Parts: sequence; C-alpha cells; structure tokens
Amino acid sequence: MIKEPVDHIPSVGEKTKEQLEMLGITKVGDLLFHFPFRYDFFEVKPLTELNHEEIATIQGEIVSEPNLSFFGRKKSRLTVTIQVGVVAIKAVFFNQSFLKDQLIRGETVTLTGKWDMHRLQITVQKFHPKSFSEEQTIQPVYHTKGNLTTNQIKKLVSYALKSSVDEIEEMLADKYLTEYKLPNRPQAVRELHQPTSKTTLKHARRRFIFEELFIFQLKMQWIKEHHKKQTQGMPKTFDESKIDEFIKGLSFELTDSQNRVLNEILSDLKSVNRMNRLLQGDVGSGKTVVAAIALYVACLSGQQGALMVPTEILAEQHEESLKEIFDGILNIELLTGSIKGKKREERLERIKKGDVDLVVGTHALIQDDTVFNRLGLVIVDEQHRFGVNQRKALRDKGLNPDVLFMTATPIPRTLSITAFGDMDVSVIDEMPKGRQPVETYWVKENMIERVHQFIIKEVQAGHQAYIICPLIEESDELDIQNAVDVYEELQDVLPNDIQVGLMHGRLSTDEKDDVMREFASNDIQVLVSTTVVEVGVNVPNATLMVIYDAERFGLAQLHQLRGRVGRGSDQSYCILLADPKGDTGKERMRVMTETTDGFTLSEHDLQIRGPGDFFGKKQSGLPEFKVANIVDDYRALEVARRDAVEVIKQDLLNQDSEYAKLKELIESDPKIQDRIFD
Ligand code: ADP
Ligand code: MG
Repeated sequence: MIKEPVDHIPSVGEKTKEQLEMLGITKVGDLLFHFPFRYDFFEVKPLTELNHEEIATIQGEIVSEPNLSFFGRKKSRLTVTIQVGVVAIKAVFFNQSFLKDQLIRGETVTLTGKWDMHRLQITVQKFHPKSFSEEQTIQPVYHTKGNLTTNQIKKLVSYALKSSVDEIEEMLADKYLTEYKLPNRPQAVRELHQPTSKTTLKHARRRFIFEELFIFQLKMQWIKEHHKKQTQGMPKTFDESKIDEFIKGLSFELTDSQNRVLNEILSDLKSVNRMNRLLQGDVGSGKTVVAAIALYVACLSGQQGALMVPTEILAEQHEESLKEIFDGILNIELLTGSIKGKKREERLERIKKGDVDLVVGTHALIQDDTVFNRLGLVIVDEQHRFGVNQRKALRDKGLNPDVLFMTATPIPRTLSITAFGDMDVSVIDEMPKGRQPVETYWVKENMIERVHQFIIKEVQAGHQAYIICPLIEESDELDIQNAVDVYEELQDVLPNDIQVGLMHGRLSTDEKDDVMREFASNDIQVLVSTTVVEVGVNVPNATLMVIYDAERFGLAQLHQLRGRVGRGSDQSYCILLADPKGDTGKERMRVMTETTDGFTLSEHDLQIRGPGDFFGKKQSGLPEFKVANIVDDYRALEVARRDAVEVIKQDLLNQDSEYAKLKELIESDPKIQDRIFD
C-alpha cells in the first residue's frame, strides 16, 4: 500500500493525518522515507569500560529494597542497590517515585544514566522495560511536529514497514550494490528504522549516502552534458604565437598553477562547446592576468570580450591595468553607472559597432541599452556578488558566449563539486613567488593603545591602514554608530597630519567611490570602514589591517579582509582585536594567526559552520540530503561523482535498462528542467 494515503492505516485519524502532513508525509511510502535524524545507543557495557560522568547503560540484579524519600515540594529521591558483576552500585532516581513498585529485589534491570565512578553510583535517566533486548539497544529518534510523539511515529513506521516495505523499488544497478557491498533499498529502509546492530545500521546509512550523492551528481553531470550538447558556442580561432608572445612580454613569469588553469581555459575556448567554468584562486593569486589572456584570445578571434565586476572602483582598477598591459594592442572601454549622457551614448555606440574589443564595467554592462558586437567571452569577477539573473543577463548579451566566473573565496572541494557540480572548476592554488605572508596577531581589546601606536608607526613610515568595524546584523544603525565612534576616537588620538576617512553602507555609491579614491591616492591614510571594503580593492600601499571585534566574523570574511593588505612589496600586518568567549571564537582567531592559506581556512570554516552556513543564505545552491552530509561523507561524494561521470559518458541512462528508474527520476525533476534552459 506504499502509494496509498496515510489515513488508510487503521490508527490514523483526521488529526494524526494533519500532523503527518506538516512533516510532509501524505502517503504510506512517505513514512518509509521519513528517516530518523539520530539514534540513541543503549548498549549495555561492563562497569570497567565506563568513564566518569559518561552516559551509560548498565544491567544488573536488584539486591536491596528501594528507598524513597521526599524533599521540598513534590521532589523525590529513590535509591536502590544493584549488583553488576561483582560490584554493588547505587542507582538514584530523582522525581520518579512511581518506579518504586517496579524495583523488585531479585529482578534484573537495565538502566541508562550518568555514571559516577568515584561513588559507584548511577543517576538514572531512563529505566528500560523488563523485556529490554538486544534490538532495543539502538533507538531511532524522529523529527516530529505538533503533539505527535516519536513513539507514535515509530508505530506508524512499523505498520508501513510490515505492509509495504517490499514494494520499495531498487534504484541502483546491481553493480554498485555488489562493488560497494550495499544492502538493497527495502533492506536498508527497514534497517534505518529498526536497526538490528550498529554494523548493519552503518551499511544501511552507507547505502543511502551513496544513493543520495550519486543521484545528485548524476543530475549535475546530466545538466552539464545537456549544456554541452545543446549549446554550440563561439569557438575561438587565433594565432597562438601571439599569446606566447604576450606571456613572454609580462614583467613576471606565470606560476605553474596559472599555466595549468590557462591551458584548461584555452582548450575550452577553442572547443565548439560553450565554456562554463569557475576559476577559484585566493586573493592575490593572479586571476586577473589569466582573465586578461582569455579576453585577448577572444579579441584575437574577432570577438568581443566583457569583464563584469561588482563595484565602480574595481571596474576602474581593472580598466587601468588592462589598458596598461594591452597598450596599443586592444581597444578597451569602461562602462559604469556614473558614465552618463553623451559620453555614455558614444561608448555604447562604439561598443555596438565593434570599435571596442574589450568592455570592462559594472552592472551597467547588463542594462538594456548595452548592445555588444559578437560578444564571445564573458568574465564575471567576484561572481558571488552577482545574482543568478545578473550573470545570466550578461551571458544573454551574446550568442552562447563562453563564460568564466571568478571567485576569491576559496571553496572547499566538497562544496564546489556540490554547489558548482554542473560547471567545470579550475583552481589556482599557489601564490606568485616572493609574496610575504601577512603577519597576523590576535590581541585583546585592552591593548588598543598599543594598536594606536602601531597605526601611527605604519603611517609615519609612509603606509596606510584599514580599520574595520564589525557588522552587527540586527542593526546597521548600531553598526554605523560603531564605525563613527571609532572614526572619532582615531581622529582624537592620531596626530593631526594623519587623515582619517570614514566609509559605511549608508553612503551612496558615489560617496563610497569618492572615499575609496581618496584612499587609493593616499589623501586619506587611515580608512575606518564597515565590511564594505571587503571585495577586490587594490591599494598596495596599505600595509595594516585592524579588525575590531574580530570574533564576530567568519573565517572566510576575515580572510577576505586580510587580503586587502599584503598586496605590495612591503611587509604587511593584520591585527585581530578580539575577546572571544567561546571555544569556536578562540579557535578561529588561532587559525587566522597560524595560516594565510585560503583553502586551509575555508576547510576550517566548513568544519566550524557546516555546509548550510558556508555560503550564507543568499546563494547556497546546496541540495538538502536526508542521510548524507557533504562534510563528513566527502569520500563517498568523490566516488559518487566519479561514477556519475562514467554513467553519463557511457550514456547508460539511455542504453541500460538497469538505469531506467534513475533516468525517470532525473527527467521528472522540475528543478533540472529549469537549469537546463537557464
Ligand atoms: P587576484 O587573484 O586577487 O585577482 P591579481 O590578479 O589582482 O590577484 O594579482 C595580484 C598581483 O599579483 C597583481 O599585481 C599581479 O600583477 C601580480 N601577479 C599576478 N601573477 C603573478 C606572477 N605569476 N608573478 C608575480 N606577480 C604576479
Ligand atoms: Mg581580483
């Protein structure tokens, strides 16, 4: 009766039906797939194996009469002596006086509670019924809603298992079950609800972990394949010696990482399939030059290139540096919101006519009146700052142009193959030679005066400093007040010839850009700011980053902020002002002082915050799994991905009847349909 409504189960009335519905359970089959979210283990252990204060389950014979005493109002203490092996221990029950009649001398009991090794005493939390047997040592715990209890769910699930478990159809081809020694689907479902042992439960969980990850990866690979087949891109044909020449002309040698990534991109560009690639590389790892070469390739092939960045100041910086490297080679034009009127019309006209090879800009690039001429390559820098629609809008300005997304937030591999599974991913995982890592210190807030001295010292040595005040999520009012306070304090304590600037989210875009320009030109030496400076800004003369209340930031954000310094040849410093209360906060500060490697940090971040929080709410893109967890199950994820790639490569979904169920599942997923045509 797997497809029948839940109220066909005799004990389910209107009320229960409603409560089950809140849990997303409407059919008997849904009950079967409402898996426990955790298990309690009541494994009976001998006393010698117990640790002090551990929650443990013991079994023994009652060798005394129970002793019940009352204290206070309604409070009680019930004690009894129990012989466990050769040791007599005391069992204490608080406020469970009703158990007195069940504690009968000579009977064997099973108890779970906190073990006190010194007093040989157990404070009982759970008194197990007499019939306690091996199977009950693992108890599933379910998510519930309303006043539905775990016990009721257990009973309903039990009914569903009896009536319908054999109707569950296998999804996976035999070869996976054999190769990975996985139980079949009905077996595994039964085992998840009614575990017979730790080992069999583990295998049942393994099966669903694999199934979930495999199906997910199949969907990703399937989308990827469809994109490839459907979308004839704009293949680039060009004189490769020009690229070699260009690289030779650079003032530095590309790192091995840059070379590898560049080759990956070049082979995409030459292919008829549209490129859809994510380029990851830590702050300062040299993504821009790779992007520049790709754009050059597009231009050499008679196509236009576009580079979109999140802020005007970044756009200007990119324009400047690209004009420098392509001086006399390419026509480069800037397009931002503050370019208006006649100037703007002229630029738009030149872009439309194809007089411009390369357009650098902000959101202005995706406005309706921006028309490109054979747009063949689109690059989006700091891609996480743009919404899906904005990225798509830029792509739609061309005819299936190649697309490269860049991000300076290193994403742990497990996350990137999950969230970006339908893209190709390239990683620059090495810094240019000769970079000095930013020296990072964690100091308590009562050291603020020494920090002031340090700011003065750096500025007097000709450098500049960023002072970051935290973002208090509940209130940007307070936030800004915070920044204003620090700003005023610094104006007070710093010598008069040091110019202090203030920047926060309430300023208009123009005002922000003005402040940034003044800082970039060293008219301001100390910039007090909220986290708005986080992204991509390049002021190589800034060597000091001071972060107030650093414990309030996540690792990824701290790392981004720190990346604003250490961009020139001088030694840079990052000072974390923090008095973290909890261990996580301390751990974060410690990790920051110990490593400057973005990938190491992001792995830590993932461990500390979990996958859901990693990207923040805005752009999670992560699927929800019932059993699998991409952090803990990263090995399974790799295996599932490899298998999924193979299935698509051999076209098994269409060729092999054992994959028919999977094919049906994938093709009927509405989200998949959306993504194919996005
Ligand atoms: P990001 O990856 O953060 O965008 P950039 O592309 O801005 O980093 O590069 C940071 C700086 O490093 C730039 O000034 C750039 O010219 C320089 N750079 C890039 N590649 C190399 C290299 N291979 N060797 C030395 N310097 C490099
Ligand atoms: Mg950059």
